Amino acid sequence: MKVFEIGYSDNFDGPGTRLIYYLKGCNFHCDWCGAPESISAETEILHYPERTVVAGTEVSAQDILKKALSARDFISGVTFGGGEPTLQAEELLCTMKLLKDHHIHIAMESNGSTPAYREAALLTDWLFTDLKTVNEKLFAERISSNTALLELYRGNIRFAAANQPNLVIRIPVVTGLNDTRKEQLKIAEFCSSLKSLRPDGKLTVQLLRQHHLAEPKYKALNRISPCENTEVPSKETVMQFAALLQQNGIDASFFG
Ligand code: SF4
Repeated sequence: MKVFEIGYSDNFDGPGTRLIYYLKGCNFHCDWCGAPESISAETEILHYPERTVVAGTEVSAQDILKKALSARDFISGVTFGGGEPTLQAEELLCTMKLLKDHHIHIAMESNGSTPAYREAALLTDWLFTDLKTVNEKLFAERISSNTALLELYRGNIRFAAANQPNLVIRIPVVTGLNDTRKEQLKIAEFCSSLKSLRPDGKLTVQLLRQHHLAEPKYKALNRISPCENTEVPSKETVMQFAALLQQNGIDASFFG
């Protein structure tokens, strides 16, 4: 599979310390994307003033297994993120099965909008899925003109809510997308409907505040960041959103 970065993280991309593979290619084009080098499936070069970085390397299931086994003493598992990992479904599913055969804990971070999502959602031990908006107009303006993906997403996330015990919904809180009370009420209503599908009646949501940390990457790719001059939502806005979700019985926390 093609990845643009391999790294480690602690208690953010799944339980414990994770070996994480970021898969290249995404079917969304979120205009606030924090990983612009993830979107194209093609290999790209980032030209920083002091160095160049190649985003796009092939790794095999055996490579990943070998690295996970050699790091076994200090990692709790392997996480697949992106980009959208399920776009490389054949290789992703094959790798997940191989890791499972070796009892390695697997987590996945997905935007939830591909046909392969459901199979991957059942294979993974821990599943993060984004929820950006439920507003079709905003989806078309900020994420993808293919609004059929929003419907596919809705069905997929309902499936995950009903069938994956370790589901965490991640909401990026973005100016003009979901920083208003009106949009947040719609999202809270949708989250409540997901909560009712949970076998244990509990839904975990993490809010992630928009940031500008990816600006150097846009420059290194010779691209203009569409949100470059946008003021990010205040901490207070994010806290109020979390409080609204909590009032709806949702286990909501926030970062950033
Ligand atoms: S889904 Fe994630 S990786 Fe894909 S464009 Fe949106 S923010 Fe970027």
